[in-house]
Amino acid sequence: MSNSEFTHCVAVIGGATAGAEIARRLADRNILVAVFEQNPRPYGKIEDGLPRWHERLRDKEYAVIREKLSHPGVRFIPQTKIGRDIAFEELVDEWGFSCVVLASGAWQDRALPIEGQADYIGRGLVYQNPFVIAFNHAEDPGFKGETFDVYDDSIVVGGGLASIDVAKIVTLTCTQRALSERGIEISTTELEVKGIPKTMAAHDLSWEELGLAGCTIYYRRREEDMPLVSIPDGATPERIEKVKKSRQTLLRKASEKFKLKVEPLSAPDGLVVENEKLVGLRFRRTRIEDGRVITTDETFERKGPVVISSIGSIPDPIQGIDMKGELFDFTDWTYGTLTRYPTVFSVGNVVTGKGNIVASRKHATEVSQDAVEIFLGVADDPEAATEGEPGLHEAAAETAEQVAVHISTQPGADSAQKEALEQRIARRQKEVGYPGTFADWLASVGEPC
Ligand SMILES: Cc1cc2nc3c(=O)[nH]c(=O)nc-3n(C[C@H](O)[C@H](O)[C@H](O)COP(=O)(O)OP(=O)(O)OC[C@H]3O[C@@H](n4cnc5c(N)ncnc54)[C@H](O)[C@@H]3O)c2cc1C
Repeated sequence: MSNSEFTHCVAVIGGATAGAEIARRLADRNILVAVFEQNPRPYGKIEDGLPRWHERLRDKEYAVIREKLSHPGVRFIPQTKIGRDIAFEELVDEWGFSCVVLASGAWQDRALPIEGQADYIGRGLVYQNPFVIAFNHAEDPGFKGETFDVYDDSIVVGGGLASIDVAKIVTLTCTQRALSERGIEISTTELEVKGIPKTMAAHDLSWEELGLAGCTIYYRRREEDMPLVSIPDGATPERIEKVKKSRQTLLRKASEKFKLKVEPLSAPDGLVVENEKLVGLRFRRTRIEDGRVITTDETFERKGPVVISSIGSIPDPIQGIDMKGELFDFTDWTYGTLTRYPTVFSVGNVVTGKGNIVASRKHATEVSQDAVEIFLGVADDPEAATEGEPGLHEAAAETAEQVAVHISTQPGADSAQKEALEQRIARRQKEVGYPGTFADWLASVGEPC
């Protein structure tokens, strides 16, 4: 497609689920889309956040991203971090794009709310994002990121799907290791599919014989409050009760199948330090009144080999974009527009950054209990369930469409601007060694292990 055929030129920051979705929708509208991705591969949370036992879902989502970014109207620019390799203001104000779409996800762990916690990162305290990345790449000999030992009886602080994933990584890894010491080799993926009790029974063993403690999630609310299944806006009291029951059922199933425990009504309150190492946490008992967490005078201490904090991911700040609290300073949550930049829009996790209820509602696709059962690995018929696994990209589609429609009504670019822009894109691609086609680039960087 020659550049004269394009009406607009749009930059997308982040090439994963949300970025690929909007890129494709814009390219379908005759718009030239430059996708800037900081990593060599464009798979974002699918490669590094979704635990690796979701093999089929991961492969399906990789294929969806590849297909969308292969559109002839999309220019992929890998290994280019906006805010580091190219300043955000430069991209918005100087490159000549009609619009810029932020699809950079939520990669920063929310800090554990205890003073002094940062001093113990790597000395007894671990955060969810690097922990899951390391697990997903544990069998990748080329992985250069941080690695972590996985310990039985770990303390997980959190609530929600991600903290269950973290606790599962602990119990599955420790069980796999204990079985391997007995000469029984099984992968964590196989163990996840079968579940721990069935696997033990198949080898005439009991969990108790392994001498493992499992893993406990400390949650500041009640089990029925854990946001595994969301309560729709305007739900009747009956519907709310039903959702609460589903949450308890899901948790019970996950606890049984993966040997994890949940200690509700426990808010992290202090660090337990010995020899300059974090060896546990002090928790404060809470109670729930009118949906609010009320702390009580009762505290208790819990020691463990490691504390893994899994209390949410928020967007990584990008120099040049104002923040409001832990999120970008959006003026409009539907289009994710920013106060200082009227031509910038946002889609995906960068807007829904957990913890902002209003934004999450607007950007969330309602997720059914069946879908959550599949994600948690507790569906009654895993074979049938895997077939029907929902796509993560489907959640990104609705907002991407709204933003794409909105962008296509913005003023277009003239042919001199388009020409200059194409040259600038090609220059950056050359700098990072991009061979010319998306397929060749992916072949050169290889698929994730
Ligand atoms: C039912 C359901 C279950 C889910 N289960 C899980 C789950 O188990 N685990 C999970 O993690 N998520 C889960 N999700 C959420 C899912 O991960 C998201 O919906 C989606 O994958 C996020 O896509 P994204 O493109 O917004 O962000 P990401 O996948 O984070 O993509 C952002 C991309 O931007 C790139 N980037 C970031 N900053 C820059 C920059 N400055 N310059 C250039 N590039 C940049 C990143 O490298 C990345 O490739 C679930 C969602 C649903 C609906």
